[in-house]
Amino acid sequence: MQNRLGTTIAAISTPRGKGGIAVIRISGPDAVSVASAMFTPKFGGSLIDAPARRAIFGTIFDSSGNPCDEGMVTVFRAPASFTGEDSAEIACHGGVAVTSEVYMSALAHGAVQAGPGEFTRRAFINGKMSLTEAEAVGLLIDADTKERMQLSGGAVRGNVSRAIERIAEDLLSVMTALYAAIDYPEEDVGDDGEREIGNTLKKSADKVSALLSTYKTGKAISDGVRSVICGRPNVGKSSLFNLMTGEDSAIVTSIAGTTRDILRETVSFGGVTLRLSDTAGIHRSDDTVEKMGIDRANREIEGAELVIAVFDGSEGLTDEDRDLVKTLSTLTQPKIAVINKTDIGTNMKRDELELIEQVSTRVVYVCAALDNTNGQELEAAVSEIFGSDKIDLRSDAIIWDVRQREKLEKAYISLTKAATAIENGDPIDCVCTLAEDAMAALNETDGRGVEERIVNEIFARFCVGK
Ligand code: GDP
Repeated sequence: MQNRLGTTIAAISTPRGKGGIAVIRISGPDAVSVASAMFTPKFGGSLIDAPARRAIFGTIFDSSGNPCDEGMVTVFRAPASFTGEDSAEIACHGGVAVTSEVYMSALAHGAVQAGPGEFTRRAFINGKMSLTEAEAVGLLIDADTKERMQLSGGAVRGNVSRAIERIAEDLLSVMTALYAAIDYPEEDVGDDGEREIGNTLKKSADKVSALLSTYKTGKAISDGVRSVICGRPNVGKSSLFNLMTGEDSAIVTSIAGTTRDILRETVSFGGVTLRLSDTAGIHRSDDTVEKMGIDRANREIEGAELVIAVFDGSEGLTDEDRDLVKTLSTLTQPKIAVINKTDIGTNMKRDELELIEQVSTRVVYVCAALDNTNGQELEAAVSEIFGSDKIDLRSDAIIWDVRQREKLEKAYISLTKAATAIENGDPIDCVCTLAEDAMAALNETDGRGVEERIVNEIFARFCVGK
């Protein structure tokens, strides 16, 4: 989408369908006059000189000039609005036809259709929010779990932007000193000066690294972790699936091999989002349908980001369990071994348990069928593996997007190279170039130097009306 800041855009900003009220949003230089042309305040006056940010009741007219509804209009004047432009929000009754009529009326009175995310894009271009804040708005709208809401809410409030800004400020002080040294070579920076610059560069690199280390948790919350529950038939996979999802969505029976297809569910578990699948029991079978299920299960395990391998603790390891242990040993992703049926007693031998421990990131004990703690031990393991136990989602700076990670990695590399260069006594202008690279990468992370193509990609992910 091209920049078309001179135009006035309109969109229905509430979800499609029947509702109590709907909001039509208009933004751009003619926003107030468009709204005014289709609205008569009940108690006199005109929207043109109405006070900003105050709801005004009146009659709304359709594109032919006939009254079609009564509602409230709020006007906002640049730059004190979401987009930073003159804006108007028309709240009408939320019927499908009336909402559409009011929207069409805005178009008939001079507004053009807004593209996806165009309101937020304008807010970003007009300096009302940074790029990570704008990205967070998108995530907040999509948030369907408490963790996703808290993560994006924190970023909308500027948690990530402020952290990046602080690093950029330190780097700027280093760059000022470096520029001075280049401009006035006769005034030697001195050993102390160089040490201080080196220290600040190192500290900045550490701060970037700390921010990078939050990516795993941020991504696990925003995208979710592809997780698979596997194990031979009858160990309690379906019972565990039901325990984790809190529903009886998987069929639990004592007949081996009942889960032939793959069940999927997204759950909020251990402070992150698990995209959980329950697979067919992996065992040696001649049944064609079951074989297909088992093949699918194996593919699911290979593609998973977290493997939850279930064993029946009331029995010793079978050949099929040992096959699974072998598979686990070849996988690099985190693996949690769940020893189930602890209520019937543990009959697993010490060496069998050690074998499982060797190939697993964590081993937990549950009683899937009778558990009344909702799998707390398993939740703690998930939380530890994905770092959500060490993070305060409301106040910490947490990145979640691969774009943010890539830019920060670039900044980190340049900062460490710059720190090494000054330590090695390399020429000052070489250190300066590296510091400039780091600054450029920081600016790209949060929007001050982002290419239009990237900006377009980010806002294309939004819905219309936001
Ligand atoms: P799957 O084939 O691996 O999915 O196993 P299911 O979840 O269908 O369970 C198989 C059988 O084991 C069922 O009869 C369950 O009730 C039983 N079961 C599952 N978990 C437990 C447990 O923790 N304790 C006991 N005693 N039985 C369990």
